[in-house]
Formats: sequence, structure tokens, C-alpha cells
Amino acid sequence: MSDELTVEELPGVGPATAEKLKESGYEDIMTIAVESHTTLAEVADIGEAVAKKIIVAARRMANIGGFETGDQVLERRRNVAKLTTSSKALDDLLGSGLETNSITEFYGEFGSGKTQIIHQLCVNVQRSEEEGGLGGHVVYIDTENTFRPERIIQMCIGQDMDPDEVLKNIHVARAYNSHHQMLLVDKAKEVAKEHSIKLFVVDSLTAHFRAEYIGRGALADRQQKLNKHMHALLQFGEINGCVIAVTNQVSAKPDAFFGDPTRAIGGHIIGHTSTFRLYLRKSKGNRRIARLIDSPNLPEGEAVFTVVEEGIRD
Ligand code: ADP
Ligand code: MG
Repeated sequence: MSDELTVEELPGVGPATAEKLKESGYEDIMTIAVESHTTLAEVADIGEAVAKKIIVAARRMANIGGFETGDQVLERRRNVAKLTTSSKALDDLLGSGLETNSITEFYGEFGSGKTQIIHQLCVNVQRSEEEGGLGGHVVYIDTENTFRPERIIQMCIGQDMDPDEVLKNIHVARAYNSHHQMLLVDKAKEVAKEHSIKLFVVDSLTAHFRAEYIGRGALADRQQKLNKHMHALLQFGEINGCVIAVTNQVSAKPDAFFGDPTRAIGGHIIGHTSTFRLYLRKSKGNRRIARLIDSPNLPEGEAVFTVVEEGIRD
């Protein structure tokens, strides 16, 4: 992306609107080009009609202005690529792997294999497309301090990859609270200027939100923040053509609002933004069961996979 054109140059954007847009993280034309007019109207405090005009102009300028080359645009629009989990059954359940440009959510109780799958994806994304990878780097937002380079090394050995090389391509940041977690998505844009990010991970997406926004009174605020966060993730995914994988814990303790412990927190907000939702549960020994929930284009079904020293397997 080039920065030849600035937000101020968009028709309909005066200095005050430009300032508001920038404050809200819309610092370049491409970010505006992929936004919805309702959201843009809200954050910039402008009418929806004006927002629409700005977006149309941003889309046109993004193309004319050479923010991306034609083949990059073509690749982003046409080629939704797939990332393997290293389990054939799990890949099949997802329609041959995790899709780029959308959010895949893994939810389940403690120990159900969420973090293990995430680690496996960090390794696999670095493989070539022929091998089920996307040949790119990883941005990893770790909220529970469960990223383990040692585990990555085991998985690399499991498929003959050089662990030193693989670890160098995983950009990890600890998020200390939900606000920090949201800011890190912006920070990641800087990483993306230098490296081709093909996987963006947030493990866990919801832990901080859950800990900070307690009780029924805080629910609306929590959902709104989560919505904004997921929207930012989705945008990152679209701009970079990368896979977004997030985890979501379910607790035995009923949530303030969503009493059923088998339901992921965040409820409808996350449900509507995640394109793919997988519910994970423990089975015998190292076996785990994944169930695809509410997919728009894939049949509901289940897959059995295992967690072994080499990583995720059938
Ligand atoms: P969560 O869903 O809470 O993120 P994890 O993905 O961390 O759960 O899964 C933890 C489980 O993964 C452990 O209980 C264990 O069964 C398995 N596991 C972790 N490390 C290894 C390993 N090195 N070899 C085999 N299995 C492992
Ligand atoms: Mg975990």
C-alpha cells in the first residue's frame, strides 16, 4: 500500500472529519474503502449519505491511486486460500481448511485443544500453498500467556521444519487488558508493512472482556467493544488476505447473561462476525471432537482429531 494519497484528500472530508477518522484508526484510504457506511458514519459523526460518498471515493482512489497493484487486488478478491490444521477430518469439516479473509472461532472449555490448534496453525501457515500453508508470517495476540515456543519446536520437528526459522516468523504480543488488546490490532498494521502476515491469532479473544465487564449492566458495553474489535480484525484480514483465528472460552460457571455454559460468550455479536465457529470438546484420552456451528455454506457436522506431541493429527 502506498501513502501517496491521504484521508484529507477524500471528497467530503474536511479537517474535522479527517481528525475524527484518524483518531478512530482510519489512517489510510484502504481502511476506509473496506469499511461499512454505517460504522463510518458513527465513528466520524457524519451522515450515512456522506459516509457512503466517502467510501465510494475511497474505493475508487484506492484503485486509481495505486495503493495496491492490480494483481494484488485480484488476488485478494478472487483467491480465498485455505490453511490446513494438520487433521484431514478437521480440514474437511471446514471445507478443506481455514479460509483467508474471514474469522474462524474455536470455542470450548479449558483443555479442549484451542491453544494447540492455534500453535499448529502458526507452523502450518509458513508452509507453501502446495503443503496446505500460505507462505506467510503470524501475528499472535496472547492474552493468557499460553504461547509456548517449546510447543512450536515440537510441532516443527513433527513435520521436518526448521524451528528457528519458524519462530522468527511469529510476532507475539502479550495483551494486558482488553483496551491493550484492541490497540495491538493497530500495532499489527506496522508489522504487516514489513512482513506478509497470513495468519492473525487472538488467544483468547474474550478472556479480558469477560474479566473486565462483569454483570448485566456492563454487557452492552462489552458487546460493543467486542464488536469493534472483531470488525478491526476482519478488516485486517481483508486487507492482508490472511486467516483470522480466535479462541473463546466457555466456562462451567454461567455467564451473567448467557447462562448456558456450552454457549460461547459474546453471543450473537461474535456469532455474526465469525464466519466459521467450531465448538471443541474433550473425548477419551488425547481425542477431541470439533463441531461446526451455524455455517452459512457448509453442512453441520463433527470431526474427531487428536493432540499428540507432534501436534494436531487425525
Ligand atoms: P485450551 O482449549 O484450554 O486452550 P489446550 O489447547 O492448551 O487447551 O490443550 C491442552 C491439552 O493439549 C492438554 O491437556 C494436553 O492434552 C494437550 N497437550 C499439550 N501439550 C502437549 C504435548 N506436548 N503433547 C501432547 N499433548 C499435549
Ligand atoms: Mg488455551
